Amino acid sequence: MSFSAESFRKQFPLFEQEENKGLVYLDNAATTQKPESVINAVRDYYVHSNANTHRSSHRLARRATEMVERVRREAMQFINAASTREIVFCRGATEALNLLAQCLCGNLQAGDEIVISTAEHHANIVPWQMAAKRFNLILRYVPHMAGIPQFDRLGEVLNERTRIVSLTGGSNALGLRPDLAVVRQLLRRMHIMWIVDGAQLAAHDIIDVQKIGCDFFVCSAHKFYGPSGVGFLYGREVLLESMPPWLGGGEMITNVELEASHYAGLPHKFEAGTSPLSAIAGLGAAIEFLGQQDRKAMAQHEQKLVRWMHRELMASPNFRVISQVRHNLGIVSFIPVHSSAADLMHWLDGRDIAVRVGHHCAQLLGKESGDLVTVRASVAAYNTHKDVQTFLQALEDYCEVQH
Ligand code: PLP
Repeated sequence: MSFSAESFRKQFPLFEQEENKGLVYLDNAATTQKPESVINAVRDYYVHSNANTHRSSHRLARRATEMVERVRREAMQFINAASTREIVFCRGATEALNLLAQCLCGNLQAGDEIVISTAEHHANIVPWQMAAKRFNLILRYVPHMAGIPQFDRLGEVLNERTRIVSLTGGSNALGLRPDLAVVRQLLRRMHIMWIVDGAQLAAHDIIDVQKIGCDFFVCSAHKFYGPSGVGFLYGREVLLESMPPWLGGGEMITNVELEASHYAGLPHKFEAGTSPLSAIAGLGAAIEFLGQQDRKAMAQHEQKLVRWMHRELMASPNFRVISQVRHNLGIVSFIPVHSSAADLMHWLDGRDIAVRVGHHCAQLLGKESGDLVTVRASVAAYNTHKDVQTFLQALEDYCEVQH
């Protein structure tokens, strides 16, 4: 197989709309656009299968239940989990990380330690801060230089009280990808639970949780061409079994009595209430869609674009580039030297070029350098050579106007 960004892009109806013909969408780390097959799967669910799952046994309910369990099998294969019991549907990476922080930390002793990094999305910081406060735990950070974590120095903050290490699989602010093989090597034989925040990773790489060797992996469908409001948590079965349920309600019980209730088995123990069913149908379609692509060629195409943007920005005296090009998911974060990042963003928006400006839900990264606000250009596989050319030309024009 091979990969053509132009034909890939044609599968996304948003880009086919007249008003979007000139759109250069470089805000993919925030969310990706959706292909026709995903949009159709959401619609088809309502047109052909809408019913509540698991609770009723009529024809439509059976069909909806079969769909959910089929998508669970697809999600299992997507990340190479060992069993469908290890896949818990949730609203996304944020919900999955909150679930882990609350369910894992309740089993720890006061004084136990959790390690995260300064490059985490707030979804992988705040839940641990809340849990640390509630259960008297100590939160440590991977050593960092000017706010940028040095993942190869993770060993310096591990000790006999470390129970959890929760790290990004790829930073949404910089694109920086830690070497997961190095993390695995450092955690070997230490009886530490390792969580990978894979929210940014799943769109850009093939995920194999058994090869990575992590205990938990979280992701959000909307970051890899699926609908918003759905994602899943992978957890090693033995660990999920040992955790208490999180939310209580329907679906997660087998028997409710006056004093107490009996909980359902995995994975339903963690899926209280009605799941986002149409979004799960769309998640399945996104996994199938990615499965039809040459993922290696797709990633090479994205890398080509990102290296090009990085090279041009580095060569310009008008920009300070914060992202490194090595081990980069597909993100270039930079700061204009002669104007504010917000001014540049508005200029680009005026040319229908969508980027994001701000701290990108990763405020800790900027603390050491004085509240770092950057412009972030993030690529997806539907971005073309022409997109990058238009973007770089717009930056050049902007600098000319500034002088
Ligand atoms: N983790 C990372 C690295 C992210 O980039 C994001 C979203 O930007 C999240 C977690 C949270 O994902 P969601 O908002 O889909 O729950």
